[in-house]
Amino acid sequence: MMATCHCGRCRKIGASTFVFVRAETFQWVKGQAEVQRLKAQPPYQYDRCFCRRCGTALGEPGAGASFPINADCLDDDPQVRLRFHEFVAEKPAWRPICDDAVQFAGHPVQAAP
Ligand SMILES: [Zn+2]
Repeated sequence: MMATCHCGRCRKIGASTFVFVRAETFQWVKGQAEVQRLKAQPPYQYDRCFCRRCGTALGEPGAGASFPINADCLDDDPQVRLRFHEFVAEKPAWRPICDDAVQFAGHPVQAAP
């Protein structure tokens, strides 16, 4: 499943479109020792990870039964397309949404569209 988060935290790390991955389908190829983790502060629930070597934002690989991976860090097409936008209330006015995916003002579990 793919979603775009418009919260200031995701935008500032340059990673706002995520692919949510089931843990049993994920495996590291290399570089796991280079991953740095930033702990989430409420209301955000996901930590943020990036590569200490190249700075690539990774999402939160390896956290729980499913977790978000930065879609822009993937080398290959993940074969899923955008399902929704979240934290649209925090989106800057200069960034239009140009697709038909469902929009949520905040987190999709905490608020209706
Ligand atoms: Zn976010």
